[in-house]
Amino acid sequence: MAELSAKERKILWYVRGMGRVSRKRLLELSRLKSPTLYRVIETLVQEGYLAVSGSEEDKGKGRPTDILTVNRTWTYVFSVCITRTRFFCAAVDFGNQILAYRSHDILADLTPEAMVEQMFADFLEICGDCGLHRQDFLGIGLSAVGPLDYREGVMIGPLHFHAEGWYQVPIVKMLGSRFGMKVLLDCNASSALMGHYMSGYFDEYQNAVYVSVGTCIGSGLIIGQRLHTNRNIILDGFAHMIIDMDGRKCTCGEYGCVEAYASTTAILEQCSREIKMGAESVMEEKLGRLKLEDLKDAVLAQDPLAVDQVQRAANIFAKCIVNYLRMVELDAVVLGGSLVESIPLFFEQVVRYAQKKEMQVKFFRSQQEERNILKGIASEVIETNLLWE
Ligand SMILES: [Zn+2]
Repeated sequence: MAELSAKERKILWYVRGMGRVSRKRLLELSRLKSPTLYRVIETLVQEGYLAVSGSEEDKGKGRPTDILTVNRTWTYVFSVCITRTRFFCAAVDFGNQILAYRSHDILADLTPEAMVEQMFADFLEICGDCGLHRQDFLGIGLSAVGPLDYREGVMIGPLHFHAEGWYQVPIVKMLGSRFGMKVLLDCNASSALMGHYMSGYFDEYQNAVYVSVGTCIGSGLIIGQRLHTNRNIILDGFAHMIIDMDGRKCTCGEYGCVEAYASTTAILEQCSREIKMGAESVMEEKLGRLKLEDLKDAVLAQDPLAVDQVQRAANIFAKCIVNYLRMVELDAVVLGGSLVESIPLFFEQVVRYAQKKEMQVKFFRSQQEERNILKGIASEVIETNLLWE
């Protein structure tokens, strides 16, 4: 395939971000001259990147204007995702749609080699089901739970990971040699953010942050409609923002990081501590093996301890979000992760606090996180390979 010019990349980027866009709107957005835009679109359609899919009335002039979409079959990405408890993969087309999807639990004896073999078996099966071949794929997008060494393509050793012995796993190299394809690595929070952003936020929000709150905390940032990456950072900057110099010990070795206050792990630890000190709670019988599910049930049952601890954690978390908003001008905050998905009270409390501070920002609660991660990492592969130098 021929290298795209800067103008062609720009137009392709807009169409991918918006899904469906009229020629007239592209003219406004790109600020290209009309004949130039016409030429660029013609090339992109001829080369098979874009398709004209109908037309609509141009309200200003009363003439019809073409509607452009990406040609979904132009290329594909094989996306794989590793969380603490599961791994899943999918073929994603050029229009960011998932064609086929496979998912597996991570069991205690799962080795990195066995996982890669399973992913490859899934790939062959999915190719068979969808009538695709290896050469149809632009590459592999790997989204994984941190901490990650992005430069070396290594999973350093995730906490609370369901399989044992996963330390310093050179996962990028392993996947690359098994599949014979290039692998792009990112963390689950960045991929989830990209997935959301490309499914409806692109046109409306220039700057957006995503924070995932679950066992640990992760974050991603979009500035000027582009994903911000800092490949030198291993620990998430938001999760390990220090909010109390003499505070609780964090898993990173520091004291007082937000993750030690606002993650599921932190809330469950606080609940256990309070119960041991005599607080009454329906969670008492689960002491020693308290899980997110128990906290969720307790909040639903209006258990005072559970409600109080969730609200406290949400208030601390909200303060950190407000700090963030004071530093970076954001239009959208998307919150996801298992805690946010299973306990609506957490999200509601964060939004209430931020609104009290009159922050002019829209809050969204993430949905379909797994699918968004797979779509998001696919977008990153496409943008890295086709759109940005
Ligand atoms: Zn920390």
